[in-house]
Parts: sequence; structure tokens; C-alpha cells
Amino acid sequence: MILRCRLCHAPIAACDPARLTPPLTSAVFEPLEPGFPPPFPPDVPWEAARCPQCRHHPQGYAPDGALSLETDQGTWPLPGPAQPETANADPKGHAAGPTTKRDAPNRRNR
Ligand SMILES: [Zn+2]
Repeated sequence: MILRCRLCHAPIAACDPARLTPPLTSAVFEPLEPGFPPPFPPDVPWEAARCPQCRHHPQGYAPDGALSLETDQGTWPLPGPAQPETANADPKGHAAGPTTKRDAPNRRNR
């Protein structure tokens, strides 16, 4: 799968969907073609990764932009952060308990 920049749509990196589990690291992204340097320095935190073309973050800056990646297969939703296995015991998903609201209508990614 190819990671694309959400802002300039340039193809940036090759990635294995199976490895795209939060927290993301720059190291899961590989060169578009073997032999090229990695798209991001592996020691750079993902939050600090920058598109080689437009120098912005590949996911853009909208609050919910971090929940997905733009790829050659469309918008790729990222799985939720690693959760304890007991999370699977709740069939409703969002039951009682602390909820994280992610519905801020911030439409900056256009
Ligand atoms: Zn870009």
C-alpha cells in the first residue's frame, strides 16, 4: 500500500497495512522503491514526520485526521489504540464510561 500526503496527494511511502497500528512510528513507512532512502528518518516521531513534497504532516492537521491515512487505496482507517482485551467484552462499543469526543467540526483539511 502506498501512503499519500493528505495535503498535496503526493505518494510518499510504501507501507504494510498490517503494521499500521497506533501509535504509528516513522519506521513503519518504507521507501516507495527498494534502494531509495526511507521517506522519514526512523528516529523521528510520527507526529514530526513531514511530507517530502510539501513539508506538511502527511495526515494534515485536523483533529480527526490522525484516525486515518490517505493511501492509494483511499482513506485507510487506522485501528484504535491498543486496548486491553476486556474491551472486546463490550458488544455495544460505546457504553457507560468516559467517552472521548472526537466530533470537533474542524474542517481545516481542505
Ligand atoms: Zn504533501
